Amino acid sequence: MVIKNLEKINIKIFQNDLISWFKREQRDLPWRKDQDPYKVWVSEIMLQQTRVDTVIPYFNRFIEWFPTIDDLADADEDKILKAWEGLGYYSRVRNLQSAVKEVRATYNGVVPDTPEEITRLKGVGPYTAGAILSIAYGLPEPAVDGNVMRVISRILSIWEDTARPASRKVFEQAVRELISHDDPSAFNQALMELGALICTPTSPACLLCPVREHCQAFEEGVQHELPVKTKKNKTRNVQLAAAILVDDSGRIMIHKRPSTGLLANLWEFPNVELKHPLEGEQDYVEQLFNTSLGLNIQLGRIIGQVEHVFSHLIWNIMVYIGKITTEFEEGDEWKLVSVEEMEQYAFPVPYQKMFKLYQQSLEE
Ligand code: SF4
Repeated sequence: MVIKNLEKINIKIFQNDLISWFKREQRDLPWRKDQDPYKVWVSEIMLQQTRVDTVIPYFNRFIEWFPTIDDLADADEDKILKAWEGLGYYSRVRNLQSAVKEVRATYNGVVPDTPEEITRLKGVGPYTAGAILSIAYGLPEPAVDGNVMRVISRILSIWEDTARPASRKVFEQAVRELISHDDPSAFNQALMELGALICTPTSPACLLCPVREHCQAFEEGVQHELPVKTKKNKTRNVQLAAAILVDDSGRIMIHKRPSTGLLANLWEFPNVELKHPLEGEQDYVEQLFNTSLGLNIQLGRIIGQVEHVFSHLIWNIMVYIGKITTEFEEGDEWKLVSVEEMEQYAFPVPYQKMFKLYQQSLEE
């Protein structure tokens, strides 16, 4: 595959400009303190879909709770979900745990250092593999995500549609041509850092850019038109009613979500999807709850609304309080817990927000 515009770049000087800028300006991030492949791996999985500022405290706590591959392999699923609570995309941490178990069983506890072996691990795609191989093992492998595609599309003025999975190969090849073999770790991290700090999606700071002299998009004045990215399908809106249902002794009913699908195995408050035009009417909602839970409840007032945006859908949750008015049998998936016990269960962000509304309502 021929990558266009490469001949216009002096690759040695480009590498030098990029890496020396990175060494001067890089942010002090906890996963940059050493090159332990396990820590690089955890940080890269956390950073997928999540901002650096958000990840920092999660990363520190995760490494404190599970400092080694063995600790994570042996941990209870409830504890790893608790450590991930609020980060979203929970299959990431489940895959990470399966993968470290595999590392222990098959590779003697050492993260493999070949692209073939490492990409066989659950949840390790080409980007994460490239990041671990280059940052922890110093191998000249590309680590191409949306951020790096944006930067490279501008530097080389590449007009491939970055939303198409097939385009990734073009960008990987471009990085293979550009990457420093003396310091692949710094090179890949520098590209990521440039994308995060300077060559940002909507307002690239070209005047501050260390590689401006090499940048074809800047020379052509098209940096705002790149990268090409066709729009994804529209997101779906889901209207839910959820309730904090309390028994006579003030314990709250919680439910464990199914073991597959969205937010699998996390805990939630009882909820129903509202598909009917009568959705605003309390009797109707109460009836839905009674049917879906198979017991009698009495809904009280609405204490607020919660909106949560996932990558492909938006939840709009109408939040009720209510009482359980019949006997209720606890099981593995349904529990009654005190406010203090709630701490032990991992809830996704929309239900955490809902619980906050409940606590505020108690103070009113
Ligand atoms: S010059 Fe501008 S468009 Fe080019 S890499 Fe730098 S910030 Fe990005």
